[in-house]
Amino acid sequence: GSNFKLRTDADVEEVYRLGPALGHGGFSTVRLATHRETRCKFAAKVCCFVIIPLPPRGSSTNKYNCSRSVILREVDVIQRLEHPCIVKLHEWFVHGGKLYLIMDLLAGGELLDEVEEHGPLTERQARAVFLQLLLGVQHMHSMGIVHRDLKLENLLMERQGDLASVKIVDFGFAKKCSSSSEECLTTVCGTPEFMAPEVVRGSSKVRAMLEGSPAASDSFTPYNAACDLWSCGVILYMLLSGQAPFRSSSHPRLLRRILAGHFSMEGPAWKGISPEAKDLVAKLLVVDPHQRLTAAAALAHPWMKGSGRRGGAVG
Ligand code: ADP
Ligand code: MG
Repeated sequence: GSNFKLRTDADVEEVYRLGPALGHGGFSTVRLATHRETRCKFAAKVCCFVIIPLPPRGSSTNKYNCSRSVILREVDVIQRLEHPCIVKLHEWFVHGGKLYLIMDLLAGGELLDEVEEHGPLTERQARAVFLQLLLGVQHMHSMGIVHRDLKLENLLMERQGDLASVKIVDFGFAKKCSSSSEECLTTVCGTPEFMAPEVVRGSSKVRAMLEGSPAASDSFTPYNAACDLWSCGVILYMLLSGQAPFRSSSHPRLLRRILAGHFSMEGPAWKGISPEAKDLVAKLLVVDPHQRLTAAAALAHPWMKGSGRRGGAVG
């Protein structure tokens, strides 16, 4: 955004009062932050640097982004995005070996908790949530950014119980991938249950583990933005049924199921769910990334327009 600010010379605690933790991730703690002057409330994502030499005074932020640790990539990526379905970064601080991202406060909590507490959504609710997810994904992909860690924990509501206020967070794994048609990503990352087969398959280490032979070299087969649409398929499956499409207590078996695209939409959890909804899930959970729907194609799917059989108000 245009009013985007980097503060490397200021102590975050002089500007914001940091309150209790709102959530924890693998790499960070997110705390309530109250602006001391305006009293406005934000969320501060606090990440520790391993080694982070401060840039010389007067050096451009751009140069700083390019030349420093991976952790700064999140800032580099998120500052390019401006969309109602993506969390907004207001300013950021580097202070005392830590990075502080001052973001919108999304006080409604994770969609994961919503589904775990209240069970599956109605089709109408799921459609409202999924529309926001797809719009956010379409925007980031149009900006050449792949999220790579889309999951229910990374979809937050701005207001408690308001399913129309969903925003995508956590660009910690996100990467620039300028061409959507070319395979330009090589790192295996993400959360297994939500990981696309081409991401799983990409690692020779994973291949070796599944085949029971040692890895010849640690090579990767590149993949692209389509991996986010697989994760969207996993998310839609979970919103509708309350269950994960790929689950197993054994890690290799889980990965094998993902690679084979083995999932089921039978059983009591899927009873009464419209064929259109199942069709959209099936067109996202497609093993071949080239055959998988894009965000734009998913937005144009009949289910996104239609009215589900299982009604109910949104929110
Ligand atoms: P990590 O990169 O370490 O996974 P996240 O960005 O996913 O960190 O944040 C970790 C958790 O903190 C989230 O799952 C969520 O519960 C909470 N959180 C993140 N961003 C916000 C926010 N803007 N407002 C409120 N809570 C947030
Ligand atoms: Mg996270």
